[in-house]
Amino acid sequence: LREVVGRVAQAVPFYAKRLGEGNVRAEDIQSLDDLARIPLTTKHDLRDNYPFGMVAVPIDDIVRIHASSGTTGKPVVGPYTRNDMTLWAEVMARTLASGGVTRKDIVHNAYGYGLFTGGLGFSLGAETIGAAIVPASSGLTKRQLMLLEDFGATVLCCTPSYALVIAEEAQAEQIDVRRRMKMRVGFFGAEPWTEAMREEIEGRLGLEAYDVYGLTEVIGPGVAVECPYHDGMHINEDHFLAELIDPESGERLPMGSVGELVFTTLTREAAPVLRYRTRDRVRLWTEPCRCGRTLARMSKVLGRTDDMLKVKGVNVFPTQIEEALLRVGGLAPQYLIMVDRPKDQLDQLEVWVEATAELWVQGEYQVKAVEHRANAELHQVLGIHTRVVVQEPKKLERSLGKAVRVMDRRAQTRWPHAPRLASPVQPQRTGSAMRTPPPGRSFHLT
Ligand SMILES: [Zn+2]
Repeated sequence: LREVVGRVAQAVPFYAKRLGEGNVRAEDIQSLDDLARIPLTTKHDLRDNYPFGMVAVPIDDIVRIHASSGTTGKPVVGPYTRNDMTLWAEVMARTLASGGVTRKDIVHNAYGYGLFTGGLGFSLGAETIGAAIVPASSGLTKRQLMLLEDFGATVLCCTPSYALVIAEEAQAEQIDVRRRMKMRVGFFGAEPWTEAMREEIEGRLGLEAYDVYGLTEVIGPGVAVECPYHDGMHINEDHFLAELIDPESGERLPMGSVGELVFTTLTREAAPVLRYRTRDRVRLWTEPCRCGRTLARMSKVLGRTDDMLKVKGVNVFPTQIEEALLRVGGLAPQYLIMVDRPKDQLDQLEVWVEATAELWVQGEYQVKAVEHRANAELHQVLGIHTRVVVQEPKKLERSLGKAVRVMDRRAQTRWPHAPRLASPVQPQRTGSAMRTPPPGRSFHLT
């Protein structure tokens, strides 16, 4: 820690200034408790220093540049030196090895290849282990199914939402995945997902699902991964120092609590960060795991502190809604949350969620009953009234990468885009059962 603080104070003007303002000198750092004296780094800081203001090495030493999707404004840049690539290869090899991947495996990688770190990161890990990598990237799901079967892939890597797209496509094509394919384990990350979704993916694809965690600002994927006990993700603490803060006050929180995850990179050369705020809400704990690893563990991501919606003054996380919906039964993990504040009215929270095929064929009466139970469950969990609309299976548009789950309409007069449906029709059930939302409470498509 002392070494990295000294290095960035020398090489990165941003950190020189920040550390100077806080009167923090590398030689003053005696223990990990001194971490609290170091100022936090935010995504805004990285954007303000776009593209190479945070780089701590001569530009000539950089051999790879990745970038985050940058859905709002400039992307976050992830530069790597030769040593950073070696580090990344090592932590990605650890990630895959945690799920028992060896050189005998065939790894089908459906994370997007390109600027996004998911595709090339998993490639690097598989090659390091000596497994065969199939760089399928995302999209063309029918062809992916063909390759998965024909090449006999034993490992699947993609976002959890895309894993479900693959499962659905297989079902539509009447492909018995468990009988015709050899998939054994899968590594799913890049978006928050729940235990219910794990069961769904494992059940439908016949594999063991591992949660993985990472971010461009730290290294890409490879920051943390589950072990076969699936009791939290082990953080590669020898490279990435994790701590937990209160997102409101910025105060450090004790191990064992829930808060915002913060990382300091210890060995990264090109783009070291000090106390970087991930905006991910997790639980963090240090008790040794049954597998024998003593690395700190983090829970699944419980939500993004910037995905948190304030509805009628209540904090709402999309993952809370997902968990509640999947507890009800008869609903699929495909949903869209919409928040609106009609003129002179209170906030309204509407959730579109797809029925399972089994529920849908039971007809209107059963669908209504489930809708009713879903509303009751959400009221129980969130303490506010919501409006759940159960949709026909496959009604909502599927994402090939990270799924879009939330549309907050309060800040603007029009949707940035209309809710994306898989088929270009208004939401409805069946012909005669079509329901028109009462005026003033509906979400019109633009
Ligand atoms: Zn473990």
